[in-house]
Amino acid sequence: SAYLYVVATPIGHLEDISPRAIQILREVSLIAAEDTRHATRLMDAYHITTALTACHEHNENHKISEIIYKIKQGQSVALISDAGTPLISDPGFKLVRAAHEENIRVIPVPGACAAIAALSAAGLPSDRFSFEGFLPAKSHARQQKLQALKAATQTLIFYEAPHRILDCAQDMHDIFGADRSVTMAREITKTFETIKKTTFAELVEWVKNDPNQQKGEIVLVVAGAPDTGEQDQQKVDELLKRLLQDLP
Ligand code: SAM
Repeated sequence: SAYLYVVATPIGHLEDISPRAIQILREVSLIAAEDTRHATRLMDAYHITTALTACHEHNENHKISEIIYKIKQGQSVALISDAGTPLISDPGFKLVRAAHEENIRVIPVPGACAAIAALSAAGLPSDRFSFEGFLPAKSHARQQKLQALKAATQTLIFYEAPHRILDCAQDMHDIFGADRSVTMAREITKTFETIKKTTFAELVEWVKNDPNQQKGEIVLVVAGAPDTGEQDQQKVDELLKRLLQDLP
């Protein structure tokens, strides 16, 4: 029977795609891509000749019916986005939801994701994290969102556009504090890949003074706020231990 495959594609380096992903892209009846011109580059590189259709925010509802119909007719479809894993700050959620509603099996074909690549190299705790995607473009809304995240103790992952990185770093500096640790991961897997772990005080100066840092694709990985609950508990434990020692 036929399936919906959700296939990750590279985030820069063309070779960051699995043999299984390439095989599936070759074998399905149709590839639903966010941007067909973009997809063509990958398909040419790997000699994939499968038919392509555009599936993006603006035609999503109409495309979904078409794709679901096709799969029900017995033809498998692969969903890809311009880069990385579909649905991660990319289109595809409505299609995947529709497939579930129609009892179509959805098969993930995992691969690159900028957020996870950045986290894996950030040097910040990775046991708990939240993916925050893109912050609002307008500064008031962005600051409100950052205020709401200020006390969160898990590591925070943000995507940011290069023309907003300085404003964003400045707002984070002001709200999270100058001393909070942050790792900027820029152009991951590409020629000018830069992974820098620093503090917001230094990040703001660095990005301000080096225009190269305001170019390309960027992930910010931000340390969580200190877990005061845990710290309090540690203090209580230590105190108890000392008191117990003094007991007869
Ligand atoms: N679906 C993609 C994924 O799995 O990572 C993300 C798509 S989102 C529209 C694009 C954003 O992801 C960029 O603005 C940037 O924040 C981040 N990104 C994508 N590729 C990147 C790379 N090579 N290096 C750093 N960040 C990247």
